[in-house]
This record gives sequence, structure tokens and C-alpha cells, in this order.
Amino acid sequence: MGLKINIKEIFPEDYSFYGQKMYNLMVKLYPICRSITGDGVRKTLNHIKEDIPIKIAEIPTGTEVFDWTIPNEWNIEDAYIKNAKGDKVVDFKTSNLHVLNYSTPVNKKINLTDLKKHLFTLPEYPDLIPYLTSYYNENWGFCITHKQFEELKDEIYEVVINSSLKDGYLTYGELYIKGEIEDEILFSCYICHPSLCNDNLTGPVLLTYLAKYLLKIKENSKLKYSYRFLFIPETIGAITWLSLNENMVLKIKHGLIATCLGDSGNFSYKKSRIGNATIDKVVEKILFDSGKPYNIYDFFPSGSDERQFCSPGLNLPVGSLLRTLYGKYPEYHSSADNLDFVKAEYLTESFRHYLMVIYILENNKTYVNLNPKCEPQLGKRGIYRKIGGQKEGSINKLAILWVLNLSEGNNSLLDISIRSKISFDQIKKSSDILVKCGLLRDISN
Ligand code: ZN
Repeated sequence: MGLKINIKEIFPEDYSFYGQKMYNLMVKLYPICRSITGDGVRKTLNHIKEDIPIKIAEIPTGTEVFDWTIPNEWNIEDAYIKNAKGDKVVDFKTSNLHVLNYSTPVNKKINLTDLKKHLFTLPEYPDLIPYLTSYYNENWGFCITHKQFEELKDEIYEVVINSSLKDGYLTYGELYIKGEIEDEILFSCYICHPSLCNDNLTGPVLLTYLAKYLLKIKENSKLKYSYRFLFIPETIGAITWLSLNENMVLKIKHGLIATCLGDSGNFSYKKSRIGNATIDKVVEKILFDSGKPYNIYDFFPSGSDERQFCSPGLNLPVGSLLRTLYGKYPEYHSSADNLDFVKAEYLTESFRHYLMVIYILENNKTYVNLNPKCEPQLGKRGIYRKIGGQKEGSINKLAILWVLNLSEGNNSLLDISIRSKISFDQIKKSSDILVKCGLLRDISN
């Protein structure tokens, strides 16, 4: 079908340069050593706050959140392994992935056999540093390339991890944009991975600019839905937010988890647990209309924060729109998921899909045809004059016939666009013409 959409017409505010802006923000965030708690999260949120007015929440260690407890806050200054000669053979300063995230502090001399119990590598990718964490199981360790591992001699090493695990806070950021109704569209991302781009920084940078764009749109036009943006540590952050906001989660009518949005791969959509929620239909329609290959995954209970939003006691309509699914590319959770792996142009494409989600949800109305017995005479109402050039025109006429035929009150414009395989925008424009001619009545609630 191809995209019959003039995105500039839908979103007059140019966004084409946002890919580079998102990338630039990622360059700023990349060196920060993040975790599920600590100053790395605060620094990250403070950078985001320069672009959008997020509120930063600090939830104390020990707070009970559903079945979980907010852990001690983790911070790290430095870490290294020195050989017998005193040379640093592993250095946190060259890559923050070198430290097992949430390592307890350590400062001791150790022989190679004992050291190896605390070393982690990726033998199948000998040049890459793996990303590993140990949040709830106290341990210390170093993640190194398999090449580094093989070069270690049988000697005494000095290992230092200058970290702290103390009472503190879990920190997250939130932005609420009020629309005409209280029903909400949720966009959530996580901010807990250290120097890793596709999984994870592409989520926060895309949502920062999506929020910025919405705030700009709001200056000149109305938003129907209210919007909530969450920048939370993965899993424990989602559990914390849901636990603290349980009384209002039913306002969330549509939601997406944003991650893995800057690689060159095809788009993927992981459906909500509901499976046929409006958000599921919207995203599938956008991917179908793109004319490019894409993957649809049914919900599964591993992955990212959709696991919490879609847990059985909440079962919210939250899916995840990504490019290549996490775990399905070799760079995933390794030092190769870096600033070279993601590109501004792919971020722009992802941004466009997220904008289209908003466009469809904001404009998805349901109508009834006021002249349902046989086709209404379109010519006498001047509808043919409103239809554009030859080729486009024939598409528009078909779109008009579909809208008239399926507007019985139980099909939304989205439903009609899916069934007709015509772009949502064409269907929406056709309905606008028919409303002006008095042939349709809006019965959306
Ligand atoms: Zn991850």
C-alpha cells in the first residue's frame, strides 16, 4: 500500500532534524555510569530536564512496592584490576561496563584462580565486554573481553572496586501533559543501563523529544488525550511507579514501552497482553502502511517493563514498539551497542512512527452514516470536486465509500482503515469531507 501520508501536513512543525538532536543527547548521556539507583540516574534525568520539565521523584530505600523492596542505593567512583607489576589490566575508567553493575566494594590481593570466579566474558565475541548486573544478589565482579581474560597470567592481582551500597533512594522522572480528557497515553522508558545505546539510551532520547514535540504542538492546538512520560529504572522502577500510582492506572488507555529504536533493523511490535487492544491495532496499522517488512510478536512475560504493566492484576493496554527486538542482535548487552551502532536517521524513522501513533489515537473517531439506505449521491453534494487529482482521487473515492459503508457506529476510523487497507490519514480525510456534507454523525465518546 505504501504510505499515502503527507507527514508535514499532519505535523507542520518540522521534526526531521530531531534525529540528530536525539543522537546528540545520547552522546551526552552515553558516558554516565547508570544503574537502577544512584547518581548516574540523577545525572541522566538532569540532562533530560534541560529539554523537558520532568519532575524527579526520590523513593527511599526500604520502601515496600508490591512484593518488592527498594534496595540500597549504589554508587561507584572507580574500579580496576592491577597485575603484579602494578599495571591496570582492567580499568572502569575506559568502560563502565567493566564492573558487574551493583558490585559490592572490594579492595584486596587475589590469585588468578580466585579472580576468575569474579570475571565474566563473552567467549563467542572475544572483543566485546558483556553487560551484567547483580542487583539483588550481593556479589562483585568484572566484565572483560575474552581476549583480556586469556592474556591474564598466573600471578597475584590487586582488585579495587570503589563502590558504595547504602541507604538512599530510587530516582525516577515523570512528565504529565494535560489534555482535554483525563484518559492517558503512556510512554515509558528505562534509564538504568550504563554505556549502552540501542538498549537503552534510544528510549529516553526518543521520549524526551517526543514530549518536547507534544509540548510544542500544545502551544497552538489542543491535545485530546493527556500524556504521561516515565523515565524509570527497569523492573523495580516500573513496579515502584505502579505501586505508588495504582489508584490511577485505569486512566492509561494506551501505552508503549520505548527501547531499541536506533539500529538499522526492521521495526518490531510486541503486543500488549490483551493482544487486540487499540494500541495493538494502531501500531500494526502503522507498520503495515509503511510498506516495509516488520515483525509482530505476541505478548510474552519476559522482556522489559511491559511485563509489569501487563501483569495479570493490572493488564494494561501497553505494548512495545521497537526496531530489532532486544536479545535478537549480537551487539545486545555488550560494548558493541555503542554510539556507532545507532544512527540519527533510524532514530528519526522511529520518532515518526511514534508521532503517527499519537496522530491516529488523537483522531480515531467513530461515526454513523446518516444516509445508510443505498449510497448517497456524492456528486450533488460536491464531493467529487473535493477529491484531488486522478490517481489520488480514485483512492479518495474508495476511502469515502468505505467510510460510508462501515460507519454503523461500531467501527472506528482505525477499524475502517485496517479493513480497507487504506491509510488511516486517507480514511480520516474522507470522514472530514463527509461530516462537512452532513452525511456522518460523530458518536465517539
Ligand atoms: Zn537491557
